[in-house]
Amino acid sequence: MINDGVKILIHTDRLRHNARCLKARCRGIMPVIKADAYGHGLEETAAILESEGTGWFAIGAVDEGVRLRKAGVKANIVALLGLLQPEDAMLAAEYKIMPLIHSFAVLKQMADCGRPADIAIKCNTGMNRLGFTLEDMPKLTETLQSFPFLRPQIAITHLACADEEAGDQVTLWQINTFSSCVSSLRTTFPAMKASCLNSPGLLSWPQYCRKFPELEAAAPFALELTRPGIVLYGENPLAGTDREKLGSDVLPVMEAQTSVLAVYTLQQGDSVSYGHTYTAPSPRRVAIIAAGYAEGFSRALSNKGFVCLKGGRAPIIGRVCMQMSLIDVTEQPDTTRGDTVWILGGPDTSAVQPITAREMAGWAGTISYEVLCSLGRNRRIFLP
Ligand SMILES: *Cc1c(COP(=O)(O)O)cnc(C)c1O
Repeated sequence: MINDGVKILIHTDRLRHNARCLKARCRGIMPVIKADAYGHGLEETAAILESEGTGWFAIGAVDEGVRLRKAGVKANIVALLGLLQPEDAMLAAEYKIMPLIHSFAVLKQMADCGRPADIAIKCNTGMNRLGFTLEDMPKLTETLQSFPFLRPQIAITHLACADEEAGDQVTLWQINTFSSCVSSLRTTFPAMKASCLNSPGLLSWPQYCRKFPELEAAAPFALELTRPGIVLYGENPLAGTDREKLGSDVLPVMEAQTSVLAVYTLQQGDSVSYGHTYTAPSPRRVAIIAAGYAEGFSRALSNKGFVCLKGGRAPIIGRVCMQMSLIDVTEQPDTTRGDTVWILGGPDTSAVQPITAREMAGWAGTISYEVLCSLGRNRRIFLP
């Protein structure tokens, strides 16, 4: 956290709403709360979701799991990054956090620690980032059997192209391959669970089954433990696609506010901010706001995008600075120092469309995930 220029509002009621919407679509969820719950607050998000009955969480590093245990979280926890620090194997065993074992090297590291522990197995079915391939399964099973104090609880794979219909063949291939991995593992570890659907995969599952009728029989486990991330925080990963409707019932959990530091008039021909990249075409009212790239208000928003204030939208003008930016408030003439400005979300009036993370990401040339993670580094206020 850099300063108090930007304030993050977390609508916990919307988080609960989203969790319930998703649970209605499957038999169980393992919310993905890595990266400080996509900027929404690790411990706070976990506590809310656990009170909604969540029995599993996916985090990034083991150390986040230690924080959750210290905060009293009882649910199963899977650390998606596996073992990052030398002490992680010991910590995972001690705090009952399942590291995601994605290679023989990591498996050996976990075994070398010598402590009984639950573990998760990462299968690479096409993301081609981390994990064991289908061909690795016999050797993996054999190696696991030589470490009986390690208990494989769950197999996980991650879909690479679930957010676009054009990727359906890849998804089908991945799920079928995963199904073979799971069958192979279950011959030795019959109680192992399996998890493969991320946010877009979970939302699209009914469509996959319609398009590929054999899928339901091939992957009966698909809806047992899904791993929603972005959709839980209220961003529809299918927005802008033909499947948009499948995720239209979730509500954005995060809003970001800043305030007006100063307002002044710009004469025609005056230029502003670094590089003088904006020149007033006519006399303009300009407000300086206390948000810059240090607060996660990306410099890529320079001369692009909008903020919400006074029941309207004001365009960002000139370069975004480290802790300040400029907006054109000519259309909001009563703007004064101290006014609240929404850089994400918006006031509760029908007069103005709230700014969505997806929209802001579009202006900045990135994705909503990055917007939430970046803004989420500021001070957060949790609303009931
Ligand atoms: C981040 C992540 C997810 C969640 O992805 P979303 O697109 O946010 O739903 C699921 N599984 C794994 C392994 C991940 O790394």
